[in-house]
Amino acid sequence: MSASKPAPPSPHAVHADGLPRRGRSNSTVFRLTLGFMLVVVLTFMGVEGWRAWRDYRQAYAMAQDSVRNLAQATAQHAEDAVRQVDVVTAGLRERVEGDGLQHIDTARIHAVLAEQTQLMPQLQGLFIYAPNGDWVVTNQYVTPETANNADRDYFIYHRTHAGRGIRIGNVVKSRSSRELVIPISRRLDNPDGSFGGVLLGTLKVSYFLDYYGDFQIDDKGALVLAMRSGEVLVRRPFVAPGAGQSLADSEIFKRYLPVSSEGVAEVKAVIDNTQRLYGYRALTSYPLVVEAGLSRESFVGPWRHDLFKTGMVLLLLVVGLSGFGVLVLGQLRARMLLEKEIGIAHQALRDMALTDSLTGLGNRGKLDLALAREIERARRQDAPLALIMLDVDYFKRFNDRYGHPAGDDCLQQVAQAIQGALRRSTDCAARYGGEEFAVLLPDTHLEGAGKVADDILRAIRALDIEHADHPEHRVTASAGVSSSMPARELTSPLGMIKAADACLYVAKHRGRNRWYAGAGCADSE
Ligand code: GH3
Ligand code: MG
Ligand code: MG
Repeated sequence: MSASKPAPPSPHAVHADGLPRRGRSNSTVFRLTLGFMLVVVLTFMGVEGWRAWRDYRQAYAMAQDSVRNLAQATAQHAEDAVRQVDVVTAGLRERVEGDGLQHIDTARIHAVLAEQTQLMPQLQGLFIYAPNGDWVVTNQYVTPETANNADRDYFIYHRTHAGRGIRIGNVVKSRSSRELVIPISRRLDNPDGSFGGVLLGTLKVSYFLDYYGDFQIDDKGALVLAMRSGEVLVRRPFVAPGAGQSLADSEIFKRYLPVSSEGVAEVKAVIDNTQRLYGYRALTSYPLVVEAGLSRESFVGPWRHDLFKTGMVLLLLVVGLSGFGVLVLGQLRARMLLEKEIGIAHQALRDMALTDSLTGLGNRGKLDLALAREIERARRQDAPLALIMLDVDYFKRFNDRYGHPAGDDCLQQVAQAIQGALRRSTDCAARYGGEEFAVLLPDTHLEGAGKVADDILRAIRALDIEHADHPEHRVTASAGVSSSMPARELTSPLGMIKAADACLYVAKHRGRNRWYAGAGCADSE
């Protein structure tokens, strides 16, 4: 049932020493090694890539925390500084309004102002102005020299606005000390509600700058205190006030603050065009905003440096591994080549050992191997198998007359004629010995084998080799043909040879230059 067609003869299959099999496993090892190296390199790159990404996220998250904390701290600081002035000026207003500005005891008020100013390091000064802008009393002077602040923004504002809360103004240069201050002012009301003067506390810009200077941030980092309207009050790095520096058009003021009073955003600063990660916060009680920014470089730089170092190590590893791999694969390839060459040489040797050197046909050894193999195959497939034994007629005489070299030449031509008469690739011709040949015909009945024998004898005659001592005057041969069904009868290589040889004897006996076919065993004729 499973009489499948026999596999084509493969050098791998017939070699008993396993060389070709090792060659095959070598190529598997080659592919495995290459694949393994690729997997290792890709795994390394994947892991390192993932690690680098994770580190970047961590650095970014830490920077976010830093700017958020910085914004929180600076907001608290600003709120405390302003609230203290808020509280102090509220108390003073109560007192001044209660006494009436015309009746206050300037010496006592001066003492209070001086004491409060000393207690609060952020305060540059405390001032009380009359409705016309004249200085009434300050923390420095009981009765100040004639000076008038009616032209100041805050003064004009309070004169024209009845609100009771404090007003935080833009940075101005103090007329008393020439330093930069942030004015925090309140309106004083007369008992009838009319404008009764202004109370002013001035915050030193330097107080904030000193505080901001204490933070460990990179050179390109920034801390900013600004009005909610956008005017910058204090900034580290320092910018001169009044230079038109406004954050009103910045992304944080335009996009983020309207949505949320605090947060983190990566934006480009409008003042110095530097990309920063900003933490921003609007103060809850006052119209002030703080921003704390770290330059992108400050947190990406160390990460990039780390990435570079890791990348170099990875590169070294990949180069090393590749070098090693190339070496190993080179060795493996050389070995595979060598084994292939050995395999080819081995095959050549086998071929040589099974080839007749004079005629180029297979030799007796090859016939023995082929016979054994084909009997087995015919048995498995329940197929017939035929064998022709051939012998050149009167060949001794040929040698005697024409000499051995001519005899050899004649044998070569006869071998070619035999080979040329075979039709199937599975037919196998061999030189059995001397001037005797054998032809093995798988899957061939006696009748078909007789036809092949007839063709061969015809081809030999057609060579028309002169043989003066032959009745036919040319070289001829005789053949004996036998066939068997190994699946149905006991068949052995020797038995088949004997049967064919017996038929050959009959052919010789009947006058040569002919073939005789007889099925079965050698004793049939
Ligand atoms: P028959 O017709 O009965 O076969 O007669 P024959 O002369 O051919 O048979 P025989 O067995 O008497 O002689 C065979 C001769 O073949 C003997 C030998 O000289 C010759 N011979 C055998 N091998 C070789 C060979 O390799 N080269 C040459 N030139 N002659 C060979
Ligand atoms: Mg002979
Ligand atoms: Mg002979």
